[in-house]
This record gives sequence, C-alpha cells and structure tokens, in this order.
Amino acid sequence: MKMSKLFVQTLREYPSDAEVISHKMLVRAGYIRKLTSGVYNFLPLMWRVLKKIENIIREEMDAAGAQELLMPFVQPKELWEESGRWDAYGKELMRLKDRHDRIMCLGPTHEEVITAVARDGLKSYKQLPVNLYQIQSKFRDEVRPRYGLLRGREFIMKDAYSFDIDETGLDREYENMAKAYKKIFDRCGLDTKMVQSDSGAIGGSVSHEFMVITDTDAGENDVFYCNNCDYSANSNHAVSKLGDAITDGGQYFAETKIIDTPNTHTIDELCEFLNIPSTIILKTLVYIIDKKPVLALIRADRNIEETKLMNAFGGTEIRIASSAEITELMQKHNFDAVAGFIGPFKGIPIIADETVKDLKNFVVGVNKNDKHMVKANLSDLNFDEITYKDIRLVEAGDYCPECGKPLFITKGIEVGNIFKLGTKYSKPMNAVYTDENGKAHPYVMGCYGIGVTRTAAAAVEAHHDDFGIKWPISIAPYHVVVVPVSTNDQLQMNCAEKIYNELLEQGIEVVLDDRDERAGVKFKDADLIGFPYRITAGKTLSDGLVELKVRETGELMTLTPDEAVKYIINIFKNV
Ligand code: ATP
Ligand code: MG
Repeated sequence: MKMSKLFVQTLREYPSDAEVISHKMLVRAGYIRKLTSGVYNFLPLMWRVLKKIENIIREEMDAAGAQELLMPFVQPKELWEESGRWDAYGKELMRLKDRHDRIMCLGPTHEEVITAVARDGLKSYKQLPVNLYQIQSKFRDEVRPRYGLLRGREFIMKDAYSFDIDETGLDREYENMAKAYKKIFDRCGLDTKMVQSDSGAIGGSVSHEFMVITDTDAGENDVFYCNNCDYSANSNHAVSKLGDAITDGGQYFAETKIIDTPNTHTIDELCEFLNIPSTIILKTLVYIIDKKPVLALIRADRNIEETKLMNAFGGTEIRIASSAEITELMQKHNFDAVAGFIGPFKGIPIIADETVKDLKNFVVGVNKNDKHMVKANLSDLNFDEITYKDIRLVEAGDYCPECGKPLFITKGIEVGNIFKLGTKYSKPMNAVYTDENGKAHPYVMGCYGIGVTRTAAAAVEAHHDDFGIKWPISIAPYHVVVVPVSTNDQLQMNCAEKIYNELLEQGIEVVLDDRDERAGVKFKDADLIGFPYRITAGKTLSDGLVELKVRETGELMTLTPDEAVKYIINIFKNV
C-alpha cells in the first residue's frame, strides 16, 4: 500500500470529546470517526485491526471445537417474551417497530435467538454437545456511551453458546472456553486476568471476566486480587475476610436509650459527637430496587456493593433513594427523619450485611431527626424480618477469602466474559433434547462473549507511548512502513521502493510512505499510527545504509537494505 493512496487522515490534535487514550489515539491516528453518539465508522486501518482480532478468535474458537454461524441482528419481541427478558432487559434494549407495527429489537446479545436455533435443530442427546458462535455487530443503548470503542452503542462482539446434556458437560466446555480465551488474548498481545464476576440474579451460576489490567481511567472495573493465591474477583462479586475491629459498643454507654444527636447527618459527624468508632454504628440506607424502596443495613465503617445488594433482592435495577423519596417513605410510615437518622422499621424489606451479625450495643437511627438509640441491640428495634447476605464492598487491605492474606485492588477493562447459564433460557423457551429413554430435558447452556472492538481499544490502552500506538505485531494494521526521507531523492526512492517490493513479495504487510512531505511529518505519522517497524532510507544511504526502528522498544539499527529486509522476514516467519 502506498501512503499517498491509503485512506487515512491523521489529525494534529486529539479530539476534544475524548477522555481516554485509546479514544484519543484511534481518532487522531485516523482509525475511527464518530457517526453519532457511541456509533463509529471503522476506517480501513481499523478494519484491518478488527479483522485480525476476529481471525485470531475464529482460529482459536474453531480449534476449540466451536462452529461459526451468523444470526440476524434484528430480533422479534416474541422471542424475548418467551425468555421473560422483554420486560427485564431495560432501556439498553433498542426497540423498534416495522411497517406492519410488529415490534422488534436490535440484538444486544443472542441467547434467545440461539436457543430458538438449537430448539429447532438439536433434538437428541446424540447431537450434543455443540458450541455455536458468531462475530457480529451488537447494539446496546448504553446510558453513557463513552471512551470511544471501549463503551460504544454499536460494537462488534464474538458470542458463543454451548449446549450440553448436563452440568458436567457444561463444566467441561466452560474450562475449554476459558483456555481458548487465554490463547486468544495472548495472541492479541494482551495480558489478561481471569476474575470471578457477578452473574446477575441467577442464583448459583458461575461467571468469569477476562480483564486487561490498567491503571488508567479506561479501567471501568475494580478488581481485587491476592498475591499469595490465585483469588481475583470483580468488585461486584468480591468477598473478603475482615480484620479485627471493635464491634461491641458496651464500653461506651451505660444504658440503652434514645439520645439527642443534633446535626449528625454523616457517620463522621456522629462518631465525633459521641466520641466512638464507626465500627459500633449500624448504618441504614434506603435503596430503590426495581422501583420499590428497601433498607440495607451495614456496619458503618463499610460500604454497600450495589450489585450484590440488587442480587440479594433478585432485582434488575438499583439506585440509592433521593432525599425526596426518603421523605416520602418516612411520611408514609409516620416518621420524621432525613438521611442520617434512618433505622430499621416495620413494613419494608430489609437486608443486612453479615457485618451486622457481630454488632452488639451499637448506635442506630430511630427514624427521628437529631436522635439515635445507643447501646442498642436488634431486639430493641421493631421490624418485620432481616435477611443476612454479604452485600459489602470489599476494600483494599481486607483479607483474601481463600488464603487470608491481604487483598490488593487494581483497575481492569473487561474484554471477555464466560458464563454458566444452565437452563435459564432453555427451560422457559422449552428448548429440549431427548435422552436414551426418550425423556425430554432442557439443554444445559453456557455463553461466552468477547468484545472485538473493545479488545482493539484495550490493546491501545495497554500499548502506547506519548507519540502514538504501539500495536502488537499480531493485530497491527500493517507490519512495516518504509519511509524515503525525500521523495525527490532518486537514490532514496529507488531503495525504498526496492525494500517495499521485496517485503511485499514475502507477504509482509507494508506501506511505502511516498508522500511529498517533510520527514518529520512522516515519522510522526508512523509513530502515531503505530507501525511495529519503520525502515528509513535517508542520508546514510550514501554509505549504503538504512535505518530500522522498532516501535515497541524505540531501538534503532543501521543496516544495509538487504539486512533490513532479512531482519523483517525473520521476524515474520514466526508471526
Ligand atoms: P459491561 O459490564 O462492560 O457493560 P457486559 O458485561 O454487559 O459489559 P457482556 O454482555 O458480558 O458485556 O458482553 C460480552 C463482551 O462484549 C464484554 O466482555 C465486552 O468486551 C463487550 N462489550 C459489552 N458492552 C460493550 C460496549 N458497550 N461497547 C463495547 N464492547 C462491549
Ligand atoms: Mg460481561
């Protein structure tokens, strides 16, 4: 490819609406252009990268025994009603109507469609197990599309679905996919951590995410991990052991009573006023889960993990109540209290974190402004019932649930997700196979996703410097750029063209920067675009030498043109 013909426009500046490095660089280096919020054109350079990622995925999925197919992007409402997700999915599901007023949606994921495909074709145990996958655009009407390709609305995903006769089969395929994923990300030049993750409200299910660890803003997930054993988990799923703390407030108060605690709206204010540690306060928070208020109780030095709390109620949507909603709730129950003074009461579902079990003689709100009960125990309070669940947000410094050593925290970009679905879809959709005795059973399913476009962006997050992208060779749009410093210098041009042609003949993906531009401009673009190797034919050519630059390390070599060509060919023998 000649640079003069390549469809690429690099920009002088980063786009002003981009917050993270991959978004900034992919736009500036001419890989992507935004069409509308969360929707991008993948320009030729980007498309080459994406095709390479797709091909790595294809090769490894095929090698793992999966079969590729392609399902429709547009899906009918009826299928989603069969699974019960039409109402449950929320606003991310983009719904639309056709000319006959039939209601459809744009596929955000394909469990329903694949289950219908399987139901139609997999009738007997003899046909199982099967793993089917596709690589396709998905649409999710994300609340906050941001970070370029990391969180788009339209994005490319590889999604695979496995069908087994039983849990043992599913466990085997899950392991098989975990191994394939590791290979896929390794081949893409990405170091990933497989971490335990939340699997939604489906009790007992298992899921893991593949995270690219990063210390930048692009890492939207907090990952807790142990250095002593291999425990690691997304914060929405992580559990921990706690260190010692004073949880019996007996020494601080003489008797159980309600006292004045004026203006103690926060835990800090309350601690200061009573001169007590926060570990003897019972904190009560009002959340709205699936539009209904609930109370969450926790030891006051710790915080609630909202996904865990939502799952504890089997909900699909959670948020903290607004002060107006708290006022309304208090009025309904004939109380008069704002946040800071709430405590457990009758007529509302209550979930308490396990830290509450150990609390004795604690301090708690009594639903009256400027009052708290001290030296309280649960038996002093009036409520219907408390369910205990781990709803606590883990913090760095807590202890590993498996080996007891301290946990650390880091940020991660989720590039893949594997999930044991069990019969969540096959049962309601009546997707069954018959066993040896002619008895029907729902398939036991798994699903396995990889964000293709997010993987490309994560690669940029993991591999760049101030000057631009440093693509891993396996997914770089081109391998080499050959730069004649001056296109008017016949010697340089001839040499550059010769190298270019020799590399092309060897099947190496090479660009000749034949533009009549200053050398500085060409070098800047080469670094920005991120060609893994640059061969420069410049002044040293009078001594019969060219310069070879390795983008990853910045290493510079002065070689004869033949040596430079051989060097590159040698490297690509192994790619
Ligand atoms: P997230 O928690 O980041 O919203 P998710 O868990 O909802 O993602 P999955 O349903 O597990 O996503 O989808 C499989 C993969 O698709 C993810 O691991 C991720 O790589 C990719 N993906 C999901 N949502 C997006 C998006 N909005 N933009 C780009 N890629 C995405
Ligand atoms: Mg996920």
